[in-house]
Amino acid sequence: DQANIGVTGLAVMGRNLARNLARHGHTVALHNRHQQRTDDLVAQFGDEGTFVPTGSAAEFVAALERPRKLIVMVKAGGPTDAVIEEFAPLLEDGDMIVDGGNAHFADTRRREKALRERGLHFVGTGVSGGEEGALHGPSIMPGGSREAYASLGPILTDIAADVDGTPCCTHIGPDGAGHFVKMVHNGIEYADMQLIAEAYDLLRHALGLEPAQIADIFRDWNTGRLDSYLIEITAQVLGHVDAATGRPFVDVVVDQAEQKGTGRWTVQTALELGVPTTGIAEAVFARSLSGGAALREAARGLPGPARAPITGAAAETLAADIEQALYASKVVAYAQGFNEIQAGAAEYDWPIDLGAVATIWRGGCIIRAAFLDDIRAAYANDPALPTLLTDGGFAEAVRDAQDSWRSVVATAARLGIPAPGFSSALSYYDALRAQRLPAALVQGQRDYFGAHTYQRVDRPGTFHTEWATRDAAEHEV
Ligand code: NDP
Repeated sequence: DQANIGVTGLAVMGRNLARNLARHGHTVALHNRHQQRTDDLVAQFGDEGTFVPTGSAAEFVAALERPRKLIVMVKAGGPTDAVIEEFAPLLEDGDMIVDGGNAHFADTRRREKALRERGLHFVGTGVSGGEEGALHGPSIMPGGSREAYASLGPILTDIAADVDGTPCCTHIGPDGAGHFVKMVHNGIEYADMQLIAEAYDLLRHALGLEPAQIADIFRDWNTGRLDSYLIEITAQVLGHVDAATGRPFVDVVVDQAEQKGTGRWTVQTALELGVPTTGIAEAVFARSLSGGAALREAARGLPGPARAPITGAAAETLAADIEQALYASKVVAYAQGFNEIQAGAAEYDWPIDLGAVATIWRGGCIIRAAFLDDIRAAYANDPALPTLLTDGGFAEAVRDAQDSWRSVVATAARLGIPAPGFSSALSYYDALRAQRLPAALVQGQRDYFGAHTYQRVDRPGTFHTEWATRDAAEHEV
């Protein structure tokens, strides 16, 4: 039997994608560096569909019908290059290598170019949804050529999640576009998680609530506009009690958040593109700060304000205010993430449809949420929207949220509770809507010490002031 698709790299992600493919009626060739994983898959799940287990790379390639389609699901970085080098010489013109790992988009661009020159299609593909998503339907973000997508699309669409019959898979754009969008997805995920964590921290320390009570609040929020996978699992985690100690699970976990790097890539890329993605940056830095054990230990005794939990009438509105602050900050974080995609698309000449990106993030992925449908609608309404914040619906929601948002940020500052996500999102909003920014003063400072010149509001041209002269004369340069 010839397989119409193959998967190499059968750890959790590859194994579950292979099973998902087989369950959808595809004949799936299997390969893994150490054959044990291949044998285990067939032994455990062989009855779920048609698998063609293979041992060597040559056997794997021979098992695939032409043009060959092979999905690589190995550790990102060096291993991906090693696997490409192993397979590319065995492939023929028009064959397709799909890299479903978390590759950096710049690596994907390099690999795509090199393989294109060898007559092969290389399709860097973002896959989100973790282990469960891979099995039951992930959100899939394929890059690569239109031609490759024409034959891969139906297969990927088959195994993707769907929302109301619309699959969570679309061709994002050429070469590294898919991995770029997956990277920003993960960056937004960092920001969203940080904002949720700040909401929890405020409910805990400004209101003095217990994790189980906060779990109930999140469950309630999950029935409204914040309805999302991340809010849902937050309620589950907060409601969980540690079996060994009987204490809330969240209290027995070391408070140092780890990271694998996609959030950092999103921020590094944003810096290079000059896109202020402050929400994602704050989230990445918040994780770094939490992990700086020695620094935190040294600073732990620094003085802060007296922290008596808020009670009475103020307490009654605070939980609702926090919901508003969370929502408004979330709009900012997503607006920034979509602007980064827009900037990446302009820089790399990718015709990315932002509405389509929102559409395929509605299901399957970690940030799946009702909210993404509002983003889809915003871009459907105006594909050239400069920021989600100016969309009619979002503008109105943030306007209605802003008093609460400001009061929550002020409360956090007053009580000494860190809220970097909420407060930087508010500053971003206020900076964007400002009539005048103090950037004018910065330009003056730059001109003073470095003769960096400036422009005037009242006439065109580039100017410099001779700051060292007595009359500080200005001249056009
Ligand atoms: P891992 O990232 O742990 O990678 C393990 C797999 O890579 C094994 O099949 C292993 O083979 C193979 N491998 C490692 N080095 C080499 C090499 N030099 N040559 C050949 N094969 C090699 O597996 P995951 O399933 O967790 O993830 C796979 C990919 O999917 C990664 O790129 C990951 O970033 C990405 N991803 C993961 C998600 C998740 O939730 N885990 C979500 C979305 C994407 P062997 O068995 O022989 O050691």
